Amino acid sequence: MAARVAREGPNGGPRVVIVICDSLRADLIGPASTPFLSELARRAARFAAHRSVFPSTTRASAASIATGCHPARHGLLGNTMALDEGEGLVCRSAGHPDFPDRLRRATGRTLQVPTLAERLRWHGETSVSCANVSPGAAYFQDPDGHGFVYHAAGSYGPGRRPVDDPSSAALKKGLAGDRAMTERFCAEILEERAPSLAIMWLSEPDYTGHHAPLGSAQHRTAIAGADQCARQVFDTVRRLDPAGNDILFITGSDHGMETISRAIDLDALLIAAGLKEGPGSHDVVVAPNGTAATLYFAEPDSGRVPRIAHFLAGENWVGEVFAGDKLAAVGLPTNSAMRVAVTLAGEDRENPHGVRGYCPIVQDPADSESKIGFGQHGGLGPNEQRPFLMIEGGGFAPGRRLGASSLVDIAPTVLRHLHMDHDDMDGLALPRAAD
Ligand SMILES: [Zn+2]
Repeated sequence: MAARVAREGPNGGPRVVIVICDSLRADLIGPASTPFLSELARRAARFAAHRSVFPSTTRASAASIATGCHPARHGLLGNTMALDEGEGLVCRSAGHPDFPDRLRRATGRTLQVPTLAERLRWHGETSVSCANVSPGAAYFQDPDGHGFVYHAAGSYGPGRRPVDDPSSAALKKGLAGDRAMTERFCAEILEERAPSLAIMWLSEPDYTGHHAPLGSAQHRTAIAGADQCARQVFDTVRRLDPAGNDILFITGSDHGMETISRAIDLDALLIAAGLKEGPGSHDVVVAPNGTAATLYFAEPDSGRVPRIAHFLAGENWVGEVFAGDKLAAVGLPTNSAMRVAVTLAGEDRENPHGVRGYCPIVQDPADSESKIGFGQHGGLGPNEQRPFLMIEGGGFAPGRRLGASSLVDIAPTVLRHLHMDHDDMDGLALPRAAD
């Protein structure tokens, strides 16, 4: 464990602790795989119609949880984005550690709106985030260094000052890494440092869901492991605050998953249709986002945009095409180089392990992991848009909430508990009484 540091939080004041179980579908929560979450569902506020953002990818979700805004306002448009850094549009992975700097060079900023970490700093409070997901998903919770972010690719304190943190540097994705992170999060972050906001983002069950069939023994083991990590954090929280008056405990996922049915080479289809100049050309650039894709245009006001939207609408693997004002309806900007987005066409059937939902993906040359029969996400399919959310403490009455909720409602809920302004976000603070 790292050297002891001074207590950072208020003594006895309001605090928030968040645990994200990456990719855990609400319908895969049950007594066998997730005894803790099943039990918590009875004593906590449970949000039954909770939704992700679009694209339903971890990095865009991390930015939406951090800002309370959809991608249209925070500007991180998925796990991949095309950027023009002076040599034309090129698709880049937002997961790479250097991506926040590339985004800043291309657009002048990282995220376009403040994060929870920044808002807490305005009030002299500290946030601490521990994440075992991609560097991009970790850093987009606090890309400009207002609080602490601990990650295997590098840990940072306020001012993006590098922090030597061997325990994070040693973490690997998967259950063993998640367990080591949980130990450290509970002992050092929650018990000793006690910041106003502490977030822990587990790699599971996402990591295994990308490498094994959904519902397989490996996937169920990963789900059970994430459940145990969430229990350990909850037990620590309630030991520190038995009545639940001060510490608000939030646990949820960022999105669910669908089973991959096939891979679509969208670049090749566009080139064959005469709608893209060639492989690697900068005129039209596809940013694959799993079961969704976004398309960027060197000339966003040209006739190519409606021609490509029309072409995509005629493809049988396309679920829905968003262009023009329809982009705003799904939380995407209407005035960027990204002018067309698609969610792929899912099928409601069971995989060999009894888990419903298949969907094609758009092939990503930079992604060697996605395989037919394994899990993926990114689109608007019913199962990938089925994250879970439970909240306990802080005046939340137990019970099932039937009204719609979204990842963007988490930040305003956090700020309300901390007595900070939260009226300038897309999301709304969640109801404390059952509806
Ligand atoms: Zn995720």
